[in-house]
Amino acid sequence: MSTLEIRQLELGPLANFVYLLADSAAKEALVVDPAWDVPAIKKELGVGGWKLKGIFLTHNHFDHINGVGDVLKFADVPIYIHKEDAPVLDKNFKPNLKTLSGGEGIDLGGLKINFLHTPGHTEGSLCLRVSDRLVTGDTLFIRGCGRVDLPNSDPEKMYTSLKKIATLEDSLLVFPGHNYGPTPTASLAEEKKENPYLQIAAGSPLARFLEAVSG
Ligand SMILES: [Zn+2]
Ligand SMILES: [Zn+2]
Repeated sequence: MSTLEIRQLELGPLANFVYLLADSAAKEALVVDPAWDVPAIKKELGVGGWKLKGIFLTHNHFDHINGVGDVLKFADVPIYIHKEDAPVLDKNFKPNLKTLSGGEGIDLGGLKINFLHTPGHTEGSLCLRVSDRLVTGDTLFIRGCGRVDLPNSDPEKMYTSLKKIATLEDSLLVFPGHNYGPTPTASLAEEKKENPYLQIAAGSPLARFLEAVSG
């Protein structure tokens, strides 16, 4: 019997959310976007008595990856990242890299974890799904979406990715990459109703979305 537990840690000066996903029965955990305060992450692993089994990176921006090196110092674990976002990572991480294309799944204890390719904020942005939880990185925020005016951004791809997310079940709980919304998490049903970017992507032509994100 597997039991999913999620810890949401708000760390660093940019309100980043770092996550620990664990099968508390198997005492195995995955860390999502380790950054800013690795001792805090390590402490939380200790509280749960969890063994770290992997690092998952939603994308390659500094505010989501700056703790990877320090995590590897205490846990020699695989780093899951999309192949498009992998090349800029520190060369020392290479032996640990498990590059993804999207659509893959891994097991964590008895939990099934799935990766969805959701490009737009970066070419290799990924969302992670475990049970009824969706970790969305900088693709989808509560009531917002990630920036699409950066060098590796593509607003058209963001439109398509949000459209895809809008087809997922209402019951999913969204866990974003930053604490930018009125609440740290919300159901996808709520976001479909209240998130203007998700709404426009789901129901309006591309031109309308491009207007919204350039405004
Ligand atoms: Zn980002
Ligand atoms: Zn970010």
